[in-house]
Amino acid sequence: MSFLNLEGKVAIVTGGGAGIGRAVSLGLAREGAQVAVVDWSVENGRAVVKEIERLDQNKPLDMPAAIFIQADVSKDADASRIAAETVAAFGRVDILCNNAGIQTYGTVETTSEETWDKTLGVNLKSIFLVSKYVVPHLKEAGGGAIVNTASVQSIAALPNSAAYVASKGGVTSLTQEMGLDLGKFGIRVNAVMPGSIRTPMLEYSASQEPDPRAAMREWGKLYARGRIGEADEVANLIMFLASPAASFITASAYLVDGGLSARLF
Ligand code: NAD
Repeated sequence: MSFLNLEGKVAIVTGGGAGIGRAVSLGLAREGAQVAVVDWSVENGRAVVKEIERLDQNKPLDMPAAIFIQADVSKDADASRIAAETVAAFGRVDILCNNAGIQTYGTVETTSEETWDKTLGVNLKSIFLVSKYVVPHLKEAGGGAIVNTASVQSIAALPNSAAYVASKGGVTSLTQEMGLDLGKFGIRVNAVMPGSIRTPMLEYSASQEPDPRAAMREWGKLYARGRIGEADEVANLIMFLASPAASFITASAYLVDGGLSARLF
């Protein structure tokens, strides 16, 4: 058994159908956890559940290794259903990974109110909503862990990203506050702050550049590691923070940015 000790835990992963969320869903399942894969995309979410079902170590269980829940995490009714459907399938919840997010661009002058509301809704309000309905179940389980996906843009900004940067700054602040409120219930709350990670989201960002491949190579040069990151490299940190191995870690945010933010020039 691995030192993460995740065997038999029940986890919810939002945005579990692609990129970092997919890597977290598969990683947790490999460690023996049962996973509710939450995504807006039915195709992506179902594909990840199939991948989990195909993992070698999954022996026949009296409950599924994974379920898919189609939801828009920025909507109250969907957030409530995520908690209810997970408990209906697995009987409990131990881990919540609030990972779903969208990238949008614009300055305060060029960002529409609709884009601002959508970005803050999916990236920040969703953490409030999904946690609101899942926390009572974590309390019932005697404790648990929440890991929120923030960004290196929680601590430093890129231009032309007003709504995204504001949402990710909010994620680390909310993480601290939730950690303080929930510590006495044995619930730890942490955030990860990734740099550029090769996922469909980053491919979308690259597609906005004149030469997407060259852009990815150039971004990689900014990193002490000399390259951008992979989804598994973020998933490893999320799984550690979600696991009992991180028992004295809460109300904090951790960089997984290949050294990007250490550089002054
Ligand atoms: P991605 O776009 O590759 O995957 C995100 C998944 O979330 C998709 O499957 C999408 O369908 C789902 N999703 C989007 N909106 C949703 C909604 N309203 N309800 C439910 N599901 C929804 O993104 P990614 O790169 O894996 O990013 C995951 C998280 O990591 C995001 O919060 C993102 O801001 C953050 N992040 C990513 C990077 C990066 O470079 N990729 C860097 C820093 C932070």
